[in-house]
Amino acid sequence: MSELLARHRAVMPNWMALNYNDPIEIVSGKGNRVIDADGKSYLDFFAGILTNMIGYDIPEVRDAVERQLATGVVHTSTVYLLRGQIELAEKIARLSGIPNAKVFFTNSGTEANETALLLATYARKTDQVLAMRQSYHGRSFGTIGITANRAWKNNSLSPLNAHFLHGTDRHLIQFKGMSDADYIQACVDDLRHVLATAVSDDVAALIAEPIQGVGGFTMAPDGLFAAYKEVLDEQGILFISDEVQTGWGRTGSAFFGIQNHGVTPDMMTFAKGLGNGFAVGGVVARGDLMDGPHAVGLSTFGGNPISMAAANATLDYVLDHDLQANAARTGDIIIRGLQEAAGRLSVVKAVRGKGLMFAVELESPAQAGRFMEETKKAGLLAGKGGLYGNAIRMAPPLTLTVDEAVEGLGIIVTALETIDAEAA
Ligand code: PLP
Repeated sequence: MSELLARHRAVMPNWMALNYNDPIEIVSGKGNRVIDADGKSYLDFFAGILTNMIGYDIPEVRDAVERQLATGVVHTSTVYLLRGQIELAEKIARLSGIPNAKVFFTNSGTEANETALLLATYARKTDQVLAMRQSYHGRSFGTIGITANRAWKNNSLSPLNAHFLHGTDRHLIQFKGMSDADYIQACVDDLRHVLATAVSDDVAALIAEPIQGVGGFTMAPDGLFAAYKEVLDEQGILFISDEVQTGWGRTGSAFFGIQNHGVTPDMMTFAKGLGNGFAVGGVVARGDLMDGPHAVGLSTFGGNPISMAAANATLDYVLDHDLQANAARTGDIIIRGLQEAAGRLSVVKAVRGKGLMFAVELESPAQAGRFMEETKKAGLLAGKGGLYGNAIRMAPPLTLTVDEAVEGLGIIVTALETIDAEAA
């Protein structure tokens, strides 16, 4: 065990996730690569944890943060007018497509979802919430209650009253072999059944990840959320899209993941990559839901000037360079390459994804662990996850070049071939 790992184990909780048998310390980064303390370079195919949207050491972001630092003010508080916060809110409100949208900034995705839950339960005067099976929305007292993924929920308790819907669990025997249309109908029937029999009164909202992150990048069929929305609208139930992993063009085919389903939600939550490493989260919601007499008040550090400078620069960069189109182009190369490999390698059970958010499912968690070690050796970082710990999740920065996409695909396919040969 390295000296740093021993020190980590001594003072950090034993449930903190660490990647790799021999965890690495990343000491620098440039473009879409990071360097560890031994000087080894890696293509970052997990972008931190989707926290790095436009690559490392980007002058536009560094300059924006340095300009703010040069004012001498890192942060006072959110009780004064903050120009960067207002400018970012204006951009996000416009991009969201939500009518009369307003924005509130937090420091993380968990806090963003907590805020959305506060707004929704207040607006609807009930603590009944719908969420999706295999979901993950954060590790707070409230959000753990809308998590339906044992690896992340663990033994945590929550006061929230949640009911979990089908949508990404077609592997279940009752859904096997169904067409998309029949599966969507079965899910909608189940939603109606839950609303008629399982909840004790009105329901505040459905919260859903358009593509489930820690669930293993599992996807509901196109059209499912539109079908759900129709039923929810009949009863005034709100729709919250958790865009913490799927926002800002990552899926290639839409700027926010839920737009792939043709749904305009009532609220969206976001975090992770927006600050390109600086902590930014938030909620964008219909103005009538955001405004109101409930005392959500302020977040001391949410929307602070440094994070806002980084986020404004990052979002401008995404738009100016049309990184959504780049995600579609480079993601397509990789996903098609993985599908081709899946056709000839029996250890690959599934390939799924959209744009620069793609996953490979293997036969076992042990094989996923082997994949992580093999690709690390070859100079590529990825993420493990999925309901059974047997999925590999990859989501490089949206700045990935075509050459890097081809290089990364080569490393991934070689690792899959090695594991396939071992299993034969
Ligand atoms: N929502 C989703 C979809 C996530 O993937 C995560 C984190 O992985 C969160 C919420 C929680 O965000 P944070 O870790 O910033 O609190």
